[in-house]
Amino acid sequence: MISTQLVVVGGGPGGYAAGFLAADLGLGVVIVDPEANPGGVCVYRGCIPSKALLHVAKVIDESRHAAAWGVQFGQPAIDLAKLRDFKNNVVARLTNGTGQLVKHRKVKYLQGYAEIVDAHTLRVKLKAGGTEDVQFEHAILATGSVPAIPPTLKLDDPRVMDSTGALDLPDIPASLLVVGGGYIGLELGTVYATLGSAVTVVEMTPGLLPGADRDLVDVLAKRVAQTMKSVLLETRVVSLKAEAKGIRVAFDGKADAKEQLFDRVLVSVGRRPNSAIPGLDRTEVQVDQRGFIQVDEQRRTHEPSIFAIGDVVGEPMLAHKASHEGRVAAEVIAGENVAFTPRAIPAVVFTDPEVAWCGLTEAQAARENRNVVISKFPWAASGRAITLDRTDGLTKLVVDPESEQLLGVGLVGPGAGELIAEGVLAVEMGATATDLTLSIHPHPTLTETVMESAEVFFGQATHVYRPKRSKN
Ligand code: FAD
Repeated sequence: MISTQLVVVGGGPGGYAAGFLAADLGLGVVIVDPEANPGGVCVYRGCIPSKALLHVAKVIDESRHAAAWGVQFGQPAIDLAKLRDFKNNVVARLTNGTGQLVKHRKVKYLQGYAEIVDAHTLRVKLKAGGTEDVQFEHAILATGSVPAIPPTLKLDDPRVMDSTGALDLPDIPASLLVVGGGYIGLELGTVYATLGSAVTVVEMTPGLLPGADRDLVDVLAKRVAQTMKSVLLETRVVSLKAEAKGIRVAFDGKADAKEQLFDRVLVSVGRRPNSAIPGLDRTEVQVDQRGFIQVDEQRRTHEPSIFAIGDVVGEPMLAHKASHEGRVAAEVIAGENVAFTPRAIPAVVFTDPEVAWCGLTEAQAARENRNVVISKFPWAASGRAITLDRTDGLTKLVVDPESEQLLGVGLVGPGAGELIAEGVLAVEMGATATDLTLSIHPHPTLTETVMESAEVFFGQATHVYRPKRSKN
């Protein structure tokens, strides 16, 4: 029997961020996770492997475009085994690193699955065999999420993959159907399309990336129309059937073809919280109808000794949101008076072009009937975008017309995922449009588009002529 001040169930970006900070704050910490080292879905089969493959896709894509700039590279020869090794080594480097950090911080790491015995005891089924009981003052549940596969899309055939299977890169299929036009489907679809698959994306709503502002998505959709074979909107997959030559897919909706054969199918229609933790019903912890564990601003559940964070407590299911919640929960357990109250959680879609936003979106402002001004700077007017031969981007600000405070930022274009960080800082700090215009941005960079979209708000942008309102 181990006795500890804090046990963290799940070693993903939420769980290990929580455990590491708690140890830094002086608490005795145990982390339980089935993998050999912390990392969770994000590092082992999510954010990190997908971005390693997307980096390779970007290089291939740029080499193709280089012909237009007078440089010919010829057709890329793809060594799939080496590509897999690169991706696996990226994951191994990171997870070896988290393993080292466990040791440095003197955190006890149990490789196994946790079951809840009562509000102060866990039983861990160790991967190496046997069990270990852990008695704790506090626990943080950080068990994450798993792919959601509706019954119509379930088929026991290796050619039907979820995101984990697709990241294994079994081959480069001649044809691939991506079911779901959300960020995971579009990112992995981009990888396969660039490697040479004819990719079809099917999405049941009228547009890709449901939830994101349409003007940003439109820019991505134009590019996707060139790189992928087709995008079927307002169309549902009603059945999958395994045949010798491929997976026969039946569609219902706007798509012309009602049936098609694909070499492989990637099902990426969303993720569901992993709240089916054995023994959870022996506590007062409550789970809502969608399966999310209910927590307050400090990430406390209804059981006083138990906290919960990350994908298992709600949207947005993103690694950085999980880590931040984890750090809040650790501080609360260590006795600090803090809460999880972000103004801006960034979302990034690492497609080509990237799409990123934070804070209030234009669509959300319209839904909530809020009076906002949208200030846009098209990248066609950006010197840096022209040097990159990528003028299809857009930067937009959502501004409160009264206070001139920045409420949200939206971006589409290469590097949008890096650029959004300035928006997060500005929104969190309560910056106004004037603050952005008064901050000198380096030239020539895409960051200038953030400054210039604030200048557009006043009708005084150097590189676009759009007179509007005077600055007091
Ligand atoms: P997880 O990372 O899901 O970790 C939970 C851990 O708990 C797992 O290791 C699980 O095995 C373990 N566990 C579960 N039950 C038990 C138990 N009973 N006992 C012990 N351990 C248990 N997010 C981003 O922010 N950026 C991205 O670019 C991005 N890309 C993604 C790409 C893909 C393909 C996928 C699938 C996801 C991506 N995500 C991305 C989402 C991101 O991975 C999640 O938001 C993040 O991992 C959530 O962290 P977490 O700590 O809540 O849980």
